[in-house]
Amino acid sequence: TKSIGGVAAERLAAFRAREAAAYAHARPRSAEAMANGAAGYLDGVPMHWMRDWPMPFPFVVERAHGATLTDIDGHELADFCLGDTGSMFGHSPAPVARAIRRQARRGLTYMLPNDDALAVGTLLRARFGLPYWQVATTATDANRFALRVARAVTERPNILVFNGCYHGAVDETMVRLLDGRPVNRPGLAGEFRDLTQGTRVVEFNDIAALEKALAHGDVACVITEPVLTNSCMVLPEPGFHEALREVTTRHGTLLLIDETHTISTGPGGYTSAHDLQPDLFVLGKPVAGGVPASVWGMSEDVATRWAAYQQVKQPGYSGMGTTLSANPLQFAAMRATLEEVMTDEAYARMERLAHRLELGLAAAIARNVLPWHVARVGARVEFICAPGPLRNGAQAEAAHMPALEAAIHVGLINRGCLIAPFHNMMLISPATKKPQVDRLIDAFTDIASELVR
Ligand code: PMP
Repeated sequence: TKSIGGVAAERLAAFRAREAAAYAHARPRSAEAMANGAAGYLDGVPMHWMRDWPMPFPFVVERAHGATLTDIDGHELADFCLGDTGSMFGHSPAPVARAIRRQARRGLTYMLPNDDALAVGTLLRARFGLPYWQVATTATDANRFALRVARAVTERPNILVFNGCYHGAVDETMVRLLDGRPVNRPGLAGEFRDLTQGTRVVEFNDIAALEKALAHGDVACVITEPVLTNSCMVLPEPGFHEALREVTTRHGTLLLIDETHTISTGPGGYTSAHDLQPDLFVLGKPVAGGVPASVWGMSEDVATRWAAYQQVKQPGYSGMGTTLSANPLQFAAMRATLEEVMTDEAYARMERLAHRLELGLAAAIARNVLPWHVARVGARVEFICAPGPLRNGAQAEAAHMPALEAAIHVGLINRGCLIAPFHNMMLISPATKKPQVDRLIDAFTDIASELVR
């Protein structure tokens, strides 16, 4: 009989049906609310990703605090999704909530700096090592703007991405390899351009391919996460980042490190922990403790070249910014997050519990003799329903088992644990409690044994 990720297809289908029924049965209020209250929205949800959860219907949230979500049917879930990183430091961290309250009466957006704004610039410089910063609202925007600067200062038209990457809704990064050939990401809606014209794509961990792609001398920038986290997790092989830096420098190509997910590594991200030397740096999602904000930084060299470019550039709209960016609410929340939430102590705790989770999941996989593995980058842990480690985006794509993963996700929710949709990512926040981690390990162990029994 057919098997998916080492699980018999029939057994999986039965498990999935059982879990879906249990989910729906336990949530009459969410079911009714979604049926009645969603009428104003396209596809019944305010943002279409809310349809992409694997449950029969999304549950409606009553409140979120720390690492706990409560739904309107009264279920308390240990939240390991944490808004897919936006709330990586817990829901409404106390210093951020205080900062929001304080700022709420002093103006929410006015396109001028204030005290907090000035303080944040210094904090960013000290924490991430790069000398010059800009503030935007989403990681998508920060990436978009940083890529503009890269093309401007290098006077080169192209960028390079690694297969399996995700950097937000940045059009020019939406290219992947299909059977070894670059194509627009299948599924992209309304795209009228052939994005492969301006974007090269090679596999992660493949320095020879990178070398070849940069040798044309027309690539402005390589944009990458230090670890691929948006397919199944792919870690860099030893020497990859050193080689990436060396090859890009030699070809006059800038290196943009997108830390939006790998900020799970430590207070200065993977970049500080591993002494990467990016020319451009992007961080979004949790940098303001859940308030939409992103930052992008540049090296002294890029800033000098930017100043020279400004001298010759046609005056007028640069295509960067947006009116709500760099507003005082963002600065209040960012200052509180940088000063009081993203601390060494918080990360030490996150690391400890993430390690506990990693060991617990790996033990469950071994005990049930499943062909799966666990990967981790700091406080970000992932189980992958295929053998590992994975080397690149193609392997990561092949390791994805949508039907199996969806069943596990719903099973976990029924056992009190929420993990990120789209992939099997689990985040540990400073607010996450050890019993919550143990609940997740127990739930996963229970599901693994049901799937193979
Ligand atoms: N960069 C990375 C590495 C991401 O994972 C994401 C979102 N998953 C983004 C950028 C985009 O973030 P946002 O959706 O907040 O724009």
